[in-house]
Amino acid sequence: PFLLSARALSLKPSATVAVTGRALELRRAGVDVISMSVGEPDFDTPPHVCAAAIRAIEEGKTRYTAVNGIAELREAVSAKFRRENGLDHAPDAVTVTGGGKQALFNAFFALLNPGDEVLIPAPYWVSYPEMVALTGAFPVMVPTQAETGFQLDPVALEARVTPMTRMIVLNSPGNPTGAVFSPEVLQAVAAIAQRHNLMIVSDEIYEHLVYDAEQVSIGTFAPEHTLTINGASKAYAMTGWRIGYAGGPREVIAAMNALQSQSTSNASSVSQYAALAALQDHEATNRFVQHARSEYRRRRDRIVAGLNALGLPTPKPQGAFYVMPDTTALHPDELEAARLILDGARVAVVPGTDFAAPGHVRLSYATSMENIEEVLRRLGALKAELQ
Ligand code: PLP
Repeated sequence: PFLLSARALSLKPSATVAVTGRALELRRAGVDVISMSVGEPDFDTPPHVCAAAIRAIEEGKTRYTAVNGIAELREAVSAKFRRENGLDHAPDAVTVTGGGKQALFNAFFALLNPGDEVLIPAPYWVSYPEMVALTGAFPVMVPTQAETGFQLDPVALEARVTPMTRMIVLNSPGNPTGAVFSPEVLQAVAAIAQRHNLMIVSDEIYEHLVYDAEQVSIGTFAPEHTLTINGASKAYAMTGWRIGYAGGPREVIAAMNALQSQSTSNASSVSQYAALAALQDHEATNRFVQHARSEYRRRRDRIVAGLNALGLPTPKPQGAFYVMPDTTALHPDELEAARLILDGARVAVVPGTDFAAPGHVRLSYATSMENIEEVLRRLGALKAELQ
């Protein structure tokens, strides 16, 4: 028998797996399950991006690239940070990775030692605590509340700082809450990082999906303490291309490059040329982003109003493309609620268990308005049935 490593064994099997497995089973049996569980734009990658990738293939740009990415892309990322975020990262203080996820992974392994503590606002994206724990560091939750729209309280954050704290992970706009942390909150968090000499890892992958709030990069307040992570997946509907990037202090970027040089070497060459087109032809890209944003906004307004009308209290998120209804009216346990919704309404949702959001489930509204209307209709029927 093979003996698995302690690290592999430490990875928590996802509580969503059971629900996903059941959804697949139902689909195979011919049941028309509507999936509201995937965190992926339903738009196609913009044509000018696809054309650049085809050109790259035809021109033979199909070989290894520099570990940290082709120079043109790092220059374009550097210009993007300046243009859109007010951040000053020279091309050699930027690195390109296989998705935002790999940038985060490299960052945690470059910065954390076993026993370190990492502050993570909850509800959180499941990968943060899992990746942090893989390094041997400890994730420390900082709870936020639905009543405040999951806004981060800097006082609650600072109260959890100990001599072992090394890092704060921020994700604004956030998955799964859709919360956008206000400029005042970010300024206060930046001051905390400076006071206690902490590194902020700011995952801004949903930065363009903001509806009625102001999106500010925390790196503008504490540049020497911030590593900014971003990528092409969510903004440009490029999830399958696997392009992420990071900008921050040079020594951190260099350590991330060293890690990547011994793992995946470089992000896909063809995908790098595609991302280059997305960033260079930013006017065409912005038209796409604006269209996607206004579509998401319409869907958000509809699904939030619909869920609340059904008696499933749902705060209106300011960003990203997720909503988190309180499902205790269906069942006090969110895993059971998700199961009920799947079996009774044929809608796949993610139970909040893994996100530290008990009593809630997550729905992604990156799907058509027709699907959203049908989901609301099915949930209404389920609710009526249970009463
Ligand atoms: N960060 C957050 C909060 C996410 O939700 C995701 C994807 O679901 C990612 C990062 C990673 O995206 P990618 O690796 O496709 O860039």
